[in-house]
Amino acid sequence: MREKILDYFLKYVKIDTMSMEDMDTIPSTKKQFDLAKILVNDLNELGIKDVKLTDNCFVTGILPSNCNSKLHIGFLAHMDTIPGFSGTNVKPNIVKNYDGSIIKLKGIELNPNQFPFMNNLTGKTLITTDGTTVLGADDKAGIADIMGMLVYYKNNPDIKHVNIHVAFTPDEEIGGGIKAFDVKGFGCDYAYTVDGGLYNEINYENFNAASCKVTINGLDIHPGSAKGQMKNASLILMEFNSLLPINERPEYTDGYDGFNHLCSISGEVGNASAYYIIRNHSIDILNRQKNDFINACDFINKKYGDNTCQIELKDAYLNMKTLIDKDPRCIDRALNAIKKLGFIPNTSPIRGGTDGAVLTQMGLNTPNLGTGGYNCHGPYEFACLEEMENVCKILIEIAKES
Ligand SMILES: [Zn+2]
Repeated sequence: MREKILDYFLKYVKIDTMSMEDMDTIPSTKKQFDLAKILVNDLNELGIKDVKLTDNCFVTGILPSNCNSKLHIGFLAHMDTIPGFSGTNVKPNIVKNYDGSIIKLKGIELNPNQFPFMNNLTGKTLITTDGTTVLGADDKAGIADIMGMLVYYKNNPDIKHVNIHVAFTPDEEIGGGIKAFDVKGFGCDYAYTVDGGLYNEINYENFNAASCKVTINGLDIHPGSAKGQMKNASLILMEFNSLLPINERPEYTDGYDGFNHLCSISGEVGNASAYYIIRNHSIDILNRQKNDFINACDFINKKYGDNTCQIELKDAYLNMKTLIDKDPRCIDRALNAIKKLGFIPNTSPIRGGTDGAVLTQMGLNTPNLGTGGYNCHGPYEFACLEEMENVCKILIEIAKES
């Protein structure tokens, strides 16, 4: 099984599937079809039923139940890699029986002093980059884990399982690809994204998310005759920012603490603008944070005149926990599976969003499971083969008739 997972993984990471921001098509890049077509072949080769590839680059397939189970469980993983760092010409580097030392790659090194969790991985097989690209373990490790589960059930027809639905999806890294997914057609009672880190991870709490665009309209006149006249938009924007709580910046928060993050700012005397993202696991606190923006805007307008400051607040996605709590079968099943294998479940809250948050809002409860990948989104990314195998075992256990 381990070898099979490795074969799939090495095949998939070599295919460039980088997505791209600010495109109005799904998928954002045509090259995601390169992997989609290979996955269609691999699923068909395994004898998976109803294998489909949509125009939006979603690959789906079904392994029907071999018992009386009427349960339909979905497993999803995304095909794309992060836009910000090259996914072209990925040359995976296999470190067998890792000895705990520094792994030297082109121009960078994986140092256990910098990444202490590497100390837990001695004796294991690590798959790293060559130092110049991402690896794409996010989320091709998830895809290989799911394929491993399918191989297992194909090779062990006597072991009873529920209806297993799989989906490999585009454009997760840029957010939004999943909105084009046919949730109803997928036909599942609930599902899992296999897109986390640690193999024993199960996440079903994510941020509630909003954003705020701030525009300041200033008054630009010659500085020599500016007294009592000039309204310097850049300075007013700095004042606006100073009205927001300093301790609610990402660099001062972790765990369940939310934040307001200033993503970008630009300004001249005449006008200035800034873009913030606002995050919190608690919707009440998120609303209070949004109110801080409204209050800051009011303050500026009282001080400098109406319409000096304009804000545009937008909601993005919600914490899936609120919805999953109403039907927690998916959590119970995953927790039982992880425990049954003798692993200790890790249920830390996600400090971000997931495709699962969107799917849950679309009516399909979808918590997130681990993959066995580490340090995603850069050249330090690597995967641990034994942990990928553990994930595969967890998926098998989840799909087992119970
Ligand atoms: Zn991912």
